[in-house]
Amino acid sequence: MVSVATLGSHCALQVLKGAKDEGLKTILISEKKRERLYKRFDFIDEIILVDSFEEFLDNKSTSILEKNDAVLIPHGTLIAQMSTKQIESIKIPVFGNKWILKWESDRELKQQLMLESKLNVPQQIPTPNKINQLVIAKRHGAAGGKGYFLASSEKDYIKKRDILIQQGLIKGDSDLYIQEYVMGVLAYLQFFYSPLQDKLEFFGVDKRHESDIEGLARIPASEQIGMDYISSFNVIGNSPMVLRESLLDEVYQMGERFVSASQRLVKPGMNGPFCIEGVYDQNGKFWSFEFSARIVAGTNIYMEGSPYSTLLYDEPMSMGRRMAREIKKAAKQKKLDKVTT
Ligand code: AMP
Repeated sequence: MVSVATLGSHCALQVLKGAKDEGLKTILISEKKRERLYKRFDFIDEIILVDSFEEFLDNKSTSILEKNDAVLIPHGTLIAQMSTKQIESIKIPVFGNKWILKWESDRELKQQLMLESKLNVPQQIPTPNKINQLVIAKRHGAAGGKGYFLASSEKDYIKKRDILIQQGLIKGDSDLYIQEYVMGVLAYLQFFYSPLQDKLEFFGVDKRHESDIEGLARIPASEQIGMDYISSFNVIGNSPMVLRESLLDEVYQMGERFVSASQRLVKPGMNGPFCIEGVYDQNGKFWSFEFSARIVAGTNIYMEGSPYSTLLYDEPMSMGRRMAREIKKAAKQKKLDKVTT
């Protein structure tokens, strides 16, 4: 019998609750300092305690996971705390496509996959002296929006960049990616692609609450003038959202183009959960600035299902449970290799 394992952070509670609802054994790899939290939940069958997440790559943890026929669910913490090499060296089956995670972490590969998917991507500004409109400067990797800043001229950019250098967050321009800032309504589109059914499901959409850029909107512009201050885009939480129904057809099409582009560029393609992240402008056009090639924490809002999963399932269906169902079905059909890498 297969079991489901994940790292203790990000969306572990949703993932393991969903697996338990599907009748699968659940295993958590937890740092010792977090054991107190996770012990509160009865749906977690076994906890493997580690000093740091990297430790779960060692033989001891791997052999426990192998003994339980565990499938590992990757999430944002795995990506943030492990290198691509470490992730690719994981010996137990990883749900979805572990090879695509590199494309999520590397800005150039990311851009390539988004363009191949024919998504509208905000323009990249190649060098600071080309800044002639509002831009967002982002740090590479899974910085989670921390240390991102807005600038409207080269002078403004340099001032803010130098503050980040002083703070030790970056070394120089090469640590920043400059992109046209798109104004509008931010939306994070959550999908699940089933390779067993060759079917894309739109699972939900969320908003992210980012500190402290969100707080800035509460301060009158007159008070902001002269503030020598760098805002940040650090995600603090998420809340639910529904889209105008007329936008849904394009949402599905974007998801399908992303799946087929990933099948061409990074085999076996984008299997399992993923998220396309961007902004709807004043004409309802969606500009994608990012994707996540695995479950996003915004799905935690919908542990009982979302308005969109309700249209597909007559029972509460979280993303965690959807993954467990796919694993169960694949195991039954002896096709686990189709849903894992
Ligand atoms: P990212 O790391 O690309 O997900 O960006 C983190 C946050 O920065 C997003 O959640 C948005 O709030 C903001 N952001 C990123 N890119 C853009 C953009 N091109 N236009 C407007 N806001 C953006």
